[in-house]
Amino acid sequence: MSGPTLLLVEDEPGARRALGEYLERGGYEVYSAATAHEALRLWDAHRADLVLLDLGLPDLDGVDVIRRIRREATTPIIILSARGDERDKIDGLEAGADDYLTKPFATDELNARIRAVLRRAGGRDADARGCLTLGPIELDPVRREVTVSGALVRLTPREYELLKVLLSNQGRVLTKARLLRAVWGLAYADESTYLHVYVNRLRRKLSDAVGSNGGGGAAGAGAASIEGLIETELGIGYRVADHGSLPESSASDTSGGAPERSASMTATASSASSRLTE
Ligand code: CA
Repeated sequence: MSGPTLLLVEDEPGARRALGEYLERGGYEVYSAATAHEALRLWDAHRADLVLLDLGLPDLDGVDVIRRIRREATTPIIILSARGDERDKIDGLEAGADDYLTKPFATDELNARIRAVLRRAGGRDADARGCLTLGPIELDPVRREVTVSGALVRLTPREYELLKVLLSNQGRVLTKARLLRAVWGLAYADESTYLHVYVNRLRRKLSDAVGSNGGGGAAGAGAASIEGLIETELGIGYRVADHGSLPESSASDTSGGAPERSASMTATASSASSRLTE
C-alpha cells in the first residue's frame, strides 16, 4: 500500500522532476502537472490528499486552481512561490490555501509543512474533551478557559477568540485579513494594527503564565518558546506552530527577519494601544 497521494503542480521541468522524485522517495504517490489545466484534470481524476502548487503557471493563475479545488474539497494546499510575491501569497491564502513555501526551500522544511497540513487534515486539532491544545497551552471551549501548564490565564473575550481561531488552525498560515474578519468582523478587515496589538498581548499573557507558574518541572515550556508559538509571517499574517512539531526549536527563526519584526511590532503596539478598547 502506498502513502498519501500528492498533486505536484510546477511548470519548471527540473524543479518538477527533482521534487517529484524526492517526494516519491519519501513514500508519497505523486501526480505531476506542468500547467493549471493538467493540474485540474489530474485533480478531477485522482483527488490527491495534498496539493503542492506553484502559483506562476503558463496558462491559468494558480489562485484560480485553488478556488476551483476549494469549491469541491478541503484538501490541504501548499503554495510554492517566489520570494517577493507577497500579494500572490496573500491572494492564494485568501482563496483557501493552507500554507506557503518561498522558493528556494529546504526539503526538510517542505517535509515539515506537508506533515503539518496532513495531520491537520486528519482532524486532530481538538482532543476527546473538545479542548484545543498547543504544547502546554490548553483552551477549553465549554468553560471558555485557557490554561498554560495548568495555570489559568485571564484573557479578554477578544483575546480568547483570537487564540481560539489560532489554535483551531495549527500548522496553517492565517492572513491578517482573515483573522480580523474572524475575530472582529468584516468591517475590521483592514485594521491590522488591532491584530498586532492583540497578538503581542496574547503572547505576553501566555508567556507570563509560564513565568508565574514557577516552571513546575514543565521542561521545554519556557516563556520564550511560548511566545514563539505564534509566529509572525512578515507582510502576510501569523502561523501557529503545529503541535506535532513541538517542543524543539519553536523559537528559532532562520529567516533573518526576527529582530526587525519584533522591533516594528513593539513600535506598533505602543503607538496604537491607547486608542484600543474591547
Ligand atoms: Ca512557475
